[in-house]
Amino acid sequence: MTNKYMYFIANWKMYGNLSSLKTLDKVIKFSKSKEIKGGRLIYCPPNTLISSFSKKFKNCQIGIGGQNCHESDVYGAHTGFVNSQMLKNIGAHFVIIGHSENRVKGESDKLINLKIKSALDAKLKVIFCIGETLNEKKKKKTHSILSRQIKIGLKNIKYKSNIFLAYEPVWAIGSGLIPKHQDLFKTVKYIKSKFKDKLPKVLYGGSVNPKNITILREINNIDGFLIGGASQNAKKFIDIVKKTYS
Ligand code: PEP
Repeated sequence: MTNKYMYFIANWKMYGNLSSLKTLDKVIKFSKSKEIKGGRLIYCPPNTLISSFSKKFKNCQIGIGGQNCHESDVYGAHTGFVNSQMLKNIGAHFVIIGHSENRVKGESDKLINLKIKSALDAKLKVIFCIGETLNEKKKKKTHSILSRQIKIGLKNIKYKSNIFLAYEPVWAIGSGLIPKHQDLFKTVKYIKSKFKDKLPKVLYGGSVNPKNITILREINNIDGFLIGGASQNAKKFIDIVKKTYS
């Protein structure tokens, strides 16, 4: 149980179309009710839906973000990509960068660093994903991997207030598995220890659902959750928030 201000970020990945918009009515109603308590909701739908979500959320406090962006600040010949300015232009205020589903396709720490810089320049808040693979975990490399991802990903970025860290162990994403309570507490503590001046918000992501949230909510150094699969179901998403505060 917690009373603190917590972030609940829905990552819809490559799911959803215009007919999904009506499923948001329940969430909008919930966001205006007292039951929301300290919860701050943010949706990151596919780019095709950002504009429609933005209109839909016009009179409520739900935030909107993209799921990735190109590293260039300017328009250019980059078929299939959008940059952070374009996301901002259609109503996004956040962007997920460094998701493991993109890292695995070759997105390097260096490229992620450039993307974060361009997103911050465009005045977007960044949800910066980090996390180790199962193999790295087995080899007890979690800390060294996270340390490298943070060091290179945030290189030469002085103003970090608009960056949220999302700790997403790769082996926990979509697998139904979550880290052990103590392990997760220690890893989040380790991530925060990397920041000298002001502690960043650290979110957890990986198979969060209405059942395991009763375990996860007890880990008191976590500032919120990045939620994939379960966030596509409005009832599950709302239940996760409600149970965090119950
Ligand atoms: C994610 O991909 O960011 C994620 C957390 O997915 P899931 O909740 O489905 O594990």
